Amino acid sequence: MASSSIEKERRPTRVLDGSRVAVEIKREVAETVTLLNRVYGVSPRLAVVRIGDDQASEVYVRNKVRTSAEVGIMSEHFALPATTTIDELLNLITSLNNREEVDGILVQLPLPGGMDSARVLEAIDPAKDVDGFHPINVGRLAQGQLALVPCTPAGIIELLVREGIEIEGARACVVGRSHIVGRPVAALLLQRNATVTICHSFTRDLSSATSQADILIAAIGRPAFIRGSHIKPGAIVVDVGMNKVTDEGAARALFNREEVERRVETIRKRGYTLIGDVHPAEASEVAGALTPVPGGVGPLTVAMLMRNTVDACRCRRGLEEGKGRK
Ligand code: NDP
Repeated sequence: MASSSIEKERRPTRVLDGSRVAVEIKREVAETVTLLNRVYGVSPRLAVVRIGDDQASEVYVRNKVRTSAEVGIMSEHFALPATTTIDELLNLITSLNNREEVDGILVQLPLPGGMDSARVLEAIDPAKDVDGFHPINVGRLAQGQLALVPCTPAGIIELLVREGIEIEGARACVVGRSHIVGRPVAALLLQRNATVTICHSFTRDLSSATSQADILIAAIGRPAFIRGSHIKPGAIVVDVGMNKVTDEGAARALFNREEVERRVETIRKRGYTLIGDVHPAEASEVAGALTPVPGGVGPLTVAMLMRNTVDACRCRRGLEEGKGRK
């Protein structure tokens, strides 16, 4: 009796709509681009470099180029063959570093096997490093200085802030410690005065760490790895993972009744449906708020790339006080 009345009182899990916030951010970027153009006669410019024929990279780059056009950012796309040598790539980066009108340089990862990505990323002028992966920007972020911040972590913070979620004083747990997501998002949460725990594959008793978190960020790369039992009731759960489910039976076990038919239909049409690192049906029974996959963190990443490009443009050209985030 008691538990069923508690269940009845539980508020439905709030959906943190990353797609909507991404549209908002892109609209703001477009307004800034118009202003920069009108007041200073400047058009921010982004150079995107892709090496090889990785299909996923091609889709990501196409999306970045298309979104640039949508918000009024000029973009150049360099599609280099897989046979490109590191010296050829470094020469291209040097020429982009030297071109005054280029504000942002992005080298799409992963690079073809054997190419030293650290050497490539370090060659990018830190002032044009719109992915925020250069050691100078990583160091600035770690020190709480003005920096170009990696786009996915910056998008996560933007989502939490715009959804009115209190970070200060919250217990945050980040599962994953990659340079692209886990570490920078932990640094950003710490800057905003959360108490942050970072977990990884060596963490003992993962659920004792995750289940204390008011804000739980999952960036693992394993489908539905975070189960309901990992989540503190009412917690804010941000699911960064993007994994493909191709099996209809598996989809039926992962999604709740309202969603399962739509997902099965997607698998039949496309051959797969996307799922995050959090078990969606179980999380929606426990979490207070949850980012959907797709439509949560994903759209924010490209929106923040646009914002970083405009920030880099303003900062390096000294047009206004830099708006890199702290
Ligand atoms: P990485 O593979 O670089 O890192 C995964 C992290 O998860 C590692 O730190 C690893 O620990 C940790 N991990 C793996 N297994 C476990 C485990 N059993 N218990 C605890 N921790 C574990 O992945 P990324 O950070 O690049 O990406 C994570 C996910 O986010 C992927 O699904 C990716 O596709 C997605 N992603 C989505 C983006 C978006 O725009 N939505 C952007 C970027 C990524 P250890 O360090 O010990 O190996």
